[in-house]
Amino acid sequence: MNALPPLREVIARHGLSASKALGQNFLFDEQLLDRIAAIPGSLDGQQVLEIGPGPGGLTRALLRAGARVTAIEMDPRCLPALAEVEAAFPDRLRVIEGDAMKLAHGIEGPFHIVANLPYNVGTALFTGWLSGESWPPQWESLTLMFQLEVAQRIVATPGSGAYGRLAVLAQWRSAARLAMKVHRSAFTPPPKVMSAIVHVTPTLMPGGTSARMLERVTEAAFGQRRKMLRQSMKGLPGALAALESLGIDPQRRAETLGIAEFVAVARALS
Ligand code: SAM
Repeated sequence: MNALPPLREVIARHGLSASKALGQNFLFDEQLLDRIAAIPGSLDGQQVLEIGPGPGGLTRALLRAGARVTAIEMDPRCLPALAEVEAAFPDRLRVIEGDAMKLAHGIEGPFHIVANLPYNVGTALFTGWLSGESWPPQWESLTLMFQLEVAQRIVATPGSGAYGRLAVLAQWRSAARLAMKVHRSAFTPPPKVMSAIVHVTPTLMPGGTSARMLERVTEAAFGQRRKMLRQSMKGLPGALAALESLGIDPQRRAETLGIAEFVAVARALS
């Protein structure tokens, strides 16, 4: 590992100018990267799926923490730099070239997911990982960088302006916390917005409903978030009767409903 040259040198040697189209904002600060790699807890001997390793800064930190890493990277220009990391950590890193939205990782057994991704790709993968019908999922934890505002929506609590579909999806059968804020200046090049890392672990799934039904309920309720539930949910068959049977006042607005109340409505409709 000590044989590895500094990341800035690697970037220069391989001509890895950051591609805007691929959402490339790299992290070089080893201490920061080690702190990120520590968020999931001890990774010694654990399997990690990393999406978007780029030149491999976070990958190195995960390997330093003792993980066995499978990394999916779309930019072929990064592969020679990642091959150097692979050589420094024999048999600990497997790199798959391609689009993480389309590719299977092939990891057997439990694993942690860690990623610093472009925000559009990150949110799409995140909602996919949280939407599986089978629970608990194969992954043991998610440690993901988001735009700060998206991170705040994920961990938001009822009554706040940030509370919505994403918070319910992230919290009805998982614990989600904002683990670390990351200043824009930590990235090269710096993005326009601040970032934050969210850490998510699966919890027990409430019985009697499904991810799909809960999604239908929150889609209707938050589709018109300023309206009362009796208006926003009238297009969902059975929803108004479900509210009544549960004693939920239809004059309330979606953002006042706790996650357990959304789950109860979904269960009544299931
Ligand atoms: N992990 C590195 C770091 O922290 O410095 C790079 C982070 S950079 C924000 C995001 C990386 O994700 C880039 O290397 C980019 O090429 C890669 N990427 C973007 N879209 C991807 C996708 N759909 N599948 C796999 N990798 C992707």
